Amino acid sequence: MENKYGRLYNFSAGPAVLPVEVLEEARDDMLNYKNSGMSVMEMSHRSKTYDNIIKTAEKDLRELMNIPDNYKVLFLQGGAHLQFSMVPINLLKNGVADYIVTGQWAKKAYVEAQKYGKINKIATSEDKTFSYIPDCSDLNISDNADYVYICENNTIYGTKFHTLPNTKGKVLVSDMSSCFLSEPIDVTKYGLIYAGVQKNVGPAGVQIVIIREDLIREDLPEWCPTMLKYKTHADNDSLYNTPPAYGIYICGLVFKWLKKNGGLEKMKELNEKKAKILYDFLDNSKLFKGTVEKNSRSLMNIPFVTGNEELDKKFIEEAKKEGLLQLKGHRTVGGMRASIYNAMPIEGVQKLVEFMSKFEKENL
Ligand SMILES: *Cc1c(COP(=O)(O)O)cnc(C)c1O
Repeated sequence: MENKYGRLYNFSAGPAVLPVEVLEEARDDMLNYKNSGMSVMEMSHRSKTYDNIIKTAEKDLRELMNIPDNYKVLFLQGGAHLQFSMVPINLLKNGVADYIVTGQWAKKAYVEAQKYGKINKIATSEDKTFSYIPDCSDLNISDNADYVYICENNTIYGTKFHTLPNTKGKVLVSDMSSCFLSEPIDVTKYGLIYAGVQKNVGPAGVQIVIIREDLIREDLPEWCPTMLKYKTHADNDSLYNTPPAYGIYICGLVFKWLKKNGGLEKMKELNEKKAKILYDFLDNSKLFKGTVEKNSRSLMNIPFVTGNEELDKKFIEEAKKEGLLQLKGHRTVGGMRASIYNAMPIEGVQKLVEFMSKFEKENL
């Protein structure tokens, strides 16, 4: 697939690489979607054709993730950032929640939630620049906590919860934006899962929320905007107002692509294989090193440094000339970061490692 249409290997953390087969299908459907006489972009979200698109997308997602019937799937807008507010607005009943702060996104969610209740930081890895996931097997969970919150894969720092926290019976809420659909999960362990699709699934603008039905409340404060209630969207099958229609259509194509390619079991296998190539290289390199504790490593986002900012910069520039794009680390941490989502072919990772090896020889 390399160089098809002049496409290069794109290691962006998000918006990120999409499967070329999906883009080709979208291209073929672009001007006239399945003889409807129009593009999906031009179609009423109340039409039968669109209804079929959104219903099929939901059905395929349910199948891929094995989502039980007592969970609703919502397609929303506003990015993960809006969930930083919607989660506390909708789930705080006692007005207390416990947050585990393992990176910038969890921290932002923690700060935002404070507008709505008593929010406790029960664990953090900030002491070592978020380079590990703290032991969450026996935390001081508040007796009256409405939920425990995690960011499951920390996109910026490259860490991932490999064991879920022991919430001592409290509802678990997870921001899965950058690991959504990267491997099978047990949905029943969560009360609410959300993910911005621009990392591992589709174009920016769609937010997927999977919420257990008993957590969808009617008795929200009077001031709560209609659009910020999960109930509004659940009662209307995500069609209360105009949804991000085209983005949902692309997500649907990605779900089909995942099903065709063996589902999430197969994705996990491939993702582990891809990540191992890069981690093995980093573990043996004399120039590059990974920045994350080994047992906290993410399969999706892999940060690394040379230890010399000038050399990091040179690496990023030279990599670009080799067709290895968007390897710059997050602006808050520097260094490099390779995001290797589902749609990154194994050849891309191999090529990256070959280039790193060459760069090492030339610059050591
Ligand atoms: C990217 C990202 C966000 C922020 O997403 P927006 O769509 O920009 O609001 C939040 N959480 C995680 C884990 C992310 O990767």
